[in-house]
Parts: sequence; structure tokens; C-alpha cells
Amino acid sequence: MRVLLVEDDEMIGRSLKQALEGAGWSADWVRDGELAQSALGDGGYTCVLLDLGLPRQDGTEVLRRARERGDATPVLVLTARDGLDDRIHSLDLGADDYLLKPFEFRELLARMRAVVRRRDGAAHSLIGGSTMQLDLTTREVLVDGVREALTAREFALLHALLERPGAILSREQLENRIYGWGEEVTSNAIDVLIHGMRRKLGAESIRNVRGLGWRVAA
Ligand code: CA
Repeated sequence: MRVLLVEDDEMIGRSLKQALEGAGWSADWVRDGELAQSALGDGGYTCVLLDLGLPRQDGTEVLRRARERGDATPVLVLTARDGLDDRIHSLDLGADDYLLKPFEFRELLARMRAVVRRRDGAAHSLIGGSTMQLDLTTREVLVDGVREALTAREFALLHALLERPGAILSREQLENRIYGWGEEVTSNAIDVLIHGMRRKLGAESIRNVRGLGWRVAA
């Protein structure tokens, strides 16, 4: 799963990026509002962590423009304790939740899971189709009710496919969801990943649609 981290404070940004990657997220970090705007335009993010006080373009402006474009990516606002007006304003603009700095990293992860779940339209933590589901809390896959552990990349791959069972995702779409900027992605990385998943979950678990991409059964 990919997260866009928008934070101009070097210390906070660096430690958050590191912690997020340690927790299995692929994190792209930008330090100003305009870069955030263009990163969001590229799409592929599961969630956005948005600081409000930013150089070049305010966080609330980034949010307002994203929602105006119809971008529904879940946004979790990271804000200072004294910024009540900003918090209210950002919720009105379409933020999904906010967290007061300083916060515990565990709470950040829990809130990220919660906003992603709500976007997935599920009150519980399971998404997917009739034969295969993904547990967003434990990061396990359930195949006919049997649980299997997943690596971070396997989880990101299945999360992309199981958000909309039956829909075909192209190689580029999958790469966008799994790998962050500057990560070396070999031309057959997706094939290798899917080959491993099929060995683990069954040959029919992820189907190839020739020339178009991959999908899971609806
Ligand atoms: Ca700031």
C-alpha cells in the first residue's frame, strides 16, 4: 500500500517515512504543497498524510483542489494542537480524519487503517470477493476461510486487486500501487510477485487477462 506523506518538517518527515516503511507501507515523502498536488495528480495512493502548514501551497488548499478534481483518496490531516479552526476547515473540505501532533505512531497506523476501511465501504476490516478476502488489520489473506500471512508487497498487490474484485489492473497500475518513487522496479517484478502468489494461493487465485493485466474473481 502506498502512502503520500506531506510534511515540511525534516525531522518529523524522516522519522515518519522510516516508521511507515517499517510497518509495510511504501511511503513517498514531499515537503511542499505544490509537490503534493502533482503527486496526488499521478494517483495510486491508498492514503495521504497531510500537514497543513506547508511552503508554496497550504495543506488545506491541496485538499480543496484534490476534492474539487474528484480525488477521493482518504486524507488524514496531521495538525498542531492549537489549530482548531484549521481542523474544522479541513474536515469541511473533505478530510477523513485528523491527528494532533505529537502523536503515537501506533495510533497513526490505526487511524490510517480506519480511513482506508471506510473508503473501502466496509465497517469491518475484510475486503474482497466470495472466495478470497483480505484482512486489513492482520494483513492476512483468507482463501475459502483459510488464513495465510503475506509479505508487504503481496499485501499491497492483493489490496489493489481486491478493492474491486473482477476489475482488470494493468502492470503500470499495479506497479504504482506497490512501489514508491526511486524504487528499482525490474520489468518482470510484477510477474515474479504474481507467480509466487499463485504458488501460495492456487493457480486460479490471480488471473491474467492477456495484454491487459490481472484480476481476481468477482
Ligand atoms: Ca508544517
